Amino acid sequence: MKRPHRVFIGLGSNLHQPARQLRRALDELSGVTRTRLVAASGFYRSAPLGCPEPQPDYVNAVAELETALPPEALLHELQAIETRHGRRPGYRNAPRVLDLDVLLFDQKQVSNAILTLPHPRMCERAFVLAPLVELHPELVLPDGRKAADCLAALGAQRIDRLAPQAAEAPEYKVA
Ligand code: AMP
Repeated sequence: MKRPHRVFIGLGSNLHQPARQLRRALDELSGVTRTRLVAASGFYRSAPLGCPEPQPDYVNAVAELETALPPEALLHELQAIETRHGRRPGYRNAPRVLDLDVLLFDQKQVSNAILTLPHPRMCERAFVLAPLVELHPELVLPDGRKAADCLAALGAQRIDRLAPQAAEAPEYKVA
């Protein structure tokens, strides 16, 4: 692959055995055309944010990819994976079997009808920043801020890193 793009993907699930959904999604990401899975963070359990009704905790992670695809084509591949996991359109912040977001695509800044880069809400979310900083403690965002500083500046959000065996526990086999 010639001069691949460096991309970070946020993964989240709170339905149908979330940790299993994430493991399968990581496998599928490694199979995306012209793309290589470079690294994956540990799994984190997080409280749902901004949800109108009670819903199960999420399991989240971040994956680092190298890809020769342009951003829109990569997003299309992610949406195909979400659909294969049975994701159906729902209301904003509805519980979901799998959510895949493009967090960062090189240092690109994009805002169009289908894609915003960096992901517009990534710096408000500990469940994005904690796994990202785990992968790259020194990572600098396109606006010059360090991801670790953004994480430190967040108010308290409930998030726990799961031990690998905990990610298999029955409590994640919800719904
Ligand atoms: P969500 O419900 O969070 O999965 O949002 C999906 C919608 O967000 C789709 O219509 C995408 O086109 C749009 N979108 C905009 N920017 C991004 C991004 N950086 N990553 C993923 N989806 C995005």
